[in-house]
Amino acid sequence: MAVTRTFSIIKPDATRRNLTGAVTKMLEDAGLRVVASKRIQMTKEQAEGFYAVHKERPFFGELVDFMISGPVVVQVLEGEDAVKRNRDVMGATNPADAADGTIRKAFAESIEANSVHGSDSDENARIEIDFFFDEDEIVG
Ligand code: ADP
Ligand code: MG
Repeated sequence: MAVTRTFSIIKPDATRRNLTGAVTKMLEDAGLRVVASKRIQMTKEQAEGFYAVHKERPFFGELVDFMISGPVVVQVLEGEDAVKRNRDVMGATNPADAADGTIRKAFAESIEANSVHGSDSDENARIEIDFFFDEDEIVG
């Protein structure tokens, strides 16, 4: 299996509850390596651009407001089959459906405030990494 990269966000509900370390430990324990990380306050324009794919969905405005409600930690994760590995440890979007042992089962507050974002394909991982990081900020 090839070593690949994915993009992760520790969302404002998690940073607010001081869970950055706890979430990161679950990512690391799942076999992912943090090769870039920074804590940022997203602007409204950044959040709207990042989630542009969801702009027709009814929850878009609330999602953007949530994502700018506090700091987030954006990360590049590396590992074997990183996109799937990360999606597996994240758990289902709705924490009510998330399996035991997943980040969202452990920490998510709601379907919106669900603690983490993770890319859903290698192609989107590249786009999302480029959205927040310069190549020289990624140190594997
Ligand atoms: P995922 O983050 O699991 O890939 P989606 O890409 O479908 O899920 O949705 C992006 C984000 O939008 C979710 O992580 C969540 O924060 C929010 N979201 C998804 N569905 C809903 C919903 N029905 N109501 C409110 N927020 C939602
Ligand atoms: Mg998604």
